[in-house]
Amino acid sequence: MKQQLIKAEKLKAVEQMGAAISHEIRNPLTAATGFVQLLQDDYLPRQKRKEYLSIVKEELLSAERVIQDYLTFAKPALETIEEINVKSELRQTINLLQPLANQNSVEIHTDFSIIGFIKGDLQKFRQCFVNILKNAIEAMPNGGYLSVSTEFSQTEVTITVKDTGEGMTSEQLARLGEPFYSTKGKNGTGLGMMVVYSIVKAMDGTIRVQSEVGNGTTILVKFPTISLLNGN
Ligand code: ADP
Ligand code: MG
Repeated sequence: MKQQLIKAEKLKAVEQMGAAISHEIRNPLTAATGFVQLLQDDYLPRQKRKEYLSIVKEELLSAERVIQDYLTFAKPALETIEEINVKSELRQTINLLQPLANQNSVEIHTDFSIIGFIKGDLQKFRQCFVNILKNAIEAMPNGGYLSVSTEFSQTEVTITVKDTGEGMTSEQLARLGEPFYSTKGKNGTGLGMMVVYSIVKAMDGTIRVQSEVGNGTTILVKFPTISLLNGN
């Protein structure tokens, strides 16, 4: 009985979140559609046309950001639990973000000593690290170092993501993961870390964040390991 109640509550939370997310996507799309309608006027002055087009672009980018932070790897089917090769998945995620890193002159270093496996939903694992790495790169708009490393023990893996970016105050740190909390204004969704926390929890992991303004941020994510291969 109690179990069912918890399930019902969870479902409700998911529904509410889904409603909030579709709102976040629908709003900019509605705005964009409105301006496209205005753009259909043949007599619109050139200056207005330019202005409206840049609004349309901004609104579409805003919808795109929500999808990136929340739904990049989402699938309609229920989650599937599989063995995840931590090293190769992190490598692929880094490759995905290399263009963004290049744009910000961020140099990426990796140190993956051992090949090890954890259990979980692969899509969600990827989403989790896309969001963490994206934040790290975005915290270094004028360049810096991003290091990603793994350390395995028989029972757990620690994945460390360290940036030399702007860092966070203790107030910012305390609000990290709160839905829609962002310091990036129009360029942020405030959904990335909420998604990270919920995925890490679902995969029986833990997350620790250390940060210092001006010095950068280190995020340590731990997951239980299921097996290890020696060497590289
Ligand atoms: P968004 O990136 O859309 O702002 P997130 O949930 O991903 O939303 O992050 C929330 C906030 O946490 C960011 O706006 C930023 O202030 C802070 N933050 C997250 N990661 C870092 C980081 N590596 N360095 C500095 N600040 C960060
Ligand atoms: Mg983010």
